[in-house]
Amino acid sequence: MRLIEALYRLQVTELQLDTIRRDLETLDYGDALEQEMSRLDQELAQDQQTLKQLRQELLDQELELNDMETKMRKMEDLLASGSVRSGREVEHLQKELDELRRRKDILENRMLELMLRIEETEKKLKERREQLERNKERLAQVREKAVMLKEKLTQEQAQLLMERERLRAILPPEVLARYDRLRARLNGIAVAKIEDNLCSACRVSITAEVILALRDPEGLPTCENCGRFLFGEV
Ligand SMILES: [Zn+2]
Repeated sequence: MRLIEALYRLQVTELQLDTIRRDLETLDYGDALEQEMSRLDQELAQDQQTLKQLRQELLDQELELNDMETKMRKMEDLLASGSVRSGREVEHLQKELDELRRRKDILENRMLELMLRIEETEKKLKERREQLERNKERLAQVREKAVMLKEKLTQEQAQLLMERERLRAILPPEVLARYDRLRARLNGIAVAKIEDNLCSACRVSITAEVILALRDPEGLPTCENCGRFLFGEV
């Protein structure tokens, strides 16, 4: 293998390693989804508390309504029995009965409102439970995918690291030192490919010297403009 080709392959390998490192760092283990689920959990608990209160309130009102109806029946029976003879007393009972009917109407309206709110809350609760269930499934999928991807990337990484060591072992230390410096300074690209007789990194034409160096197995052609090593097929 020509020296320049080994250097170029080293760069390809190290660029792949950079990508894998970034991919491994940004793997999605479903953290955002988990946060959303814990928020849903809290809302669910709140809804359950609200529902419990509303149902208790409704139960209290049902009892109150029962009492009211018992009282009204007794008064109606009393009036119907004819045992109350005094006109003033009859009038008084009628008034009280009217008042009870009015309060009963108000109570029934409040109960109706309560029932609607209970229904709404139950619906909300059901939706949240379903959403939570869906998220749970999605989280499991996301995690499974992340674990699989991590394994795949780690395997690729191990292979690339071996390739990197192999290539570094055949390159002279001073060449590697220059390559490392260039890569650090020039955005990861120390070796540019020659395309249409141009340096693909800076688009400046290559010289005759470069072409000669390319044919030399030990040759290390460089771009006279950007200083990068230049690699091309011969
Ligand atoms: Zn260049």
